[in-house]
Amino acid sequence: MSYSKPKFKASYGNFINGKFVEPLGGDYFDNTSPIDGSHIAKYPRSQKEDVEMAIDAANAAKDNWEKTSVTERAALLNKVADIIDENLEEFATVETCDNGKAIRETLNADVPLSADHWRYFASCIRAEEGSVAELDEHTLSMNIKEPLGVVGQIIPWNFPLLMLSWKLPPALAAGNCVVLKPAEQTPSAATLLMEKIADVFPPGVVNVIHGFGPEAGKPLASSSKIDKVAFTGETTTGQLIMQYASKNLNPVTVELGGKSPNVFFNSVMDEDDAFLDKCIEGAVLFAFNQGEVCTCPSRMLVQEDIYDKFMERVVERTKAIVQSNPYDVNTQVGAQASNDQYEKIQSYLKIGKEEGAKTLCGGEANKDGDLSKGHYIKPTILEGHNKMRVFQEEIFGPVVCVTKFKDEAEALEIANDTLYGLGAGVWTRDAHQLYQIPRAIKAGRVWVNCYHAYPAHAAFGGYKKSGFGRENHLMMLSHYRQNKNMLISY
Ligand code: NAD
Repeated sequence: MSYSKPKFKASYGNFINGKFVEPLGGDYFDNTSPIDGSHIAKYPRSQKEDVEMAIDAANAAKDNWEKTSVTERAALLNKVADIIDENLEEFATVETCDNGKAIRETLNADVPLSADHWRYFASCIRAEEGSVAELDEHTLSMNIKEPLGVVGQIIPWNFPLLMLSWKLPPALAAGNCVVLKPAEQTPSAATLLMEKIADVFPPGVVNVIHGFGPEAGKPLASSSKIDKVAFTGETTTGQLIMQYASKNLNPVTVELGGKSPNVFFNSVMDEDDAFLDKCIEGAVLFAFNQGEVCTCPSRMLVQEDIYDKFMERVVERTKAIVQSNPYDVNTQVGAQASNDQYEKIQSYLKIGKEEGAKTLCGGEANKDGDLSKGHYIKPTILEGHNKMRVFQEEIFGPVVCVTKFKDEAEALEIANDTLYGLGAGVWTRDAHQLYQIPRAIKAGRVWVNCYHAYPAHAAFGGYKKSGFGRENHLMMLSHYRQNKNMLISY
């Protein structure tokens, strides 16, 4: 079964104060599909004045929104979740068209998971309890949580609807108003959502502005009229965001890049075919979603005594991955999200060759048939050592770098020899390793005998240059709140 490119209007506006509005300067940019280079639509090339208009709308809405009851806010979040579910195929095709990822990912993961995050935070605020302590018979200490006010949120292009759904629900649930900027490469899912939920929230509570980082993202993150910046994107951009926000002493959370190790111990080759098959699937996950995942298991570490046999299976499985038309439900790997990304990955393939990495499979663009019109890279495995640039720098493509290790100590040394600390995988049958190895890896999320699950109730975030703050989980509400203590004498 295959889907096709969805229909779009010629142009879209920013969503400000409950309405779609044209950019004040009248400038738009063209959005194209990485699947075949075809035109999608025009989106506002917003400037500082557009951003300020959205921030003003959010500030005007915040007092009333803060006063809404928890029950009311939860009901509205649940309504958004229902709207996403009811329009699953439309969201999935729009997301695939914009980003190039295979429709089986958007249909089965990105869109349903997005709905689930809205529902999760609706439940969280209803389940919360406060804390009151009686200090003596005449004094109560009461802790109250208040919203921050207006939050600026800036998201990347790799999971357009899901990143929005990681950011908006906790901020809104906590009683804040939001101005969100989607990535310029993938503006369509946020726009479609605003069309579908235009009447759900009071005007000004949710605002979406489109445009480029320095023109629209910078004035948002630098504004003295917001109370927090929540950012997801590259590490270098995260550093800029912190500089902008620091002028106003605004709190920030930054969810940044990664170079995640995926460690396979020799016990994975024990006499259990089902478990070994699961490990092989876990090894090739680097390719899915085109490798454009912040936690992409992009460094594979395999114990030396099983290396040859294990890698033979991994390479064989990688070569069998179906890379084809992203709208086809059988396609496993689609197009890279943009020409810039496509070129960046190819430059790393060249760097890998120059520094002596051996290509075990892939290693080039895929130009088979119609794929020649878009940005496709064959799933690639490079063999080398951890000091190489291809092992250290985030390629953000379907490229995994594999190396050997001798024992647990060496596995940990290599796993932690990175600037990043976002995700990691550990595969073993050994009970000691099941607990001790993930404990010793410096990363915010370690999957053990699994990978790439992102449930709403599991906290997610980075160590080191992968950022700070957390996404998902009940604790996320605290990132969008002030804590007030009231000492009451009576
Ligand atoms: P990016 O940093 O280039 O852009 C992210 C967003 O920031 C976009 O909306 C962009 O317009 C905006 N931006 C760019 N420059 C800006 C500036 N000077 N001021 C304000 N805003 C600016 O990142 P990207 O290429 O869109 O996304 C890929 C990166 O995101 C990868 O590094 C990936 O690992 C990371 N990522 C991290 C997580 C996580 O949870 N840790 C999740 C997804 C992606």
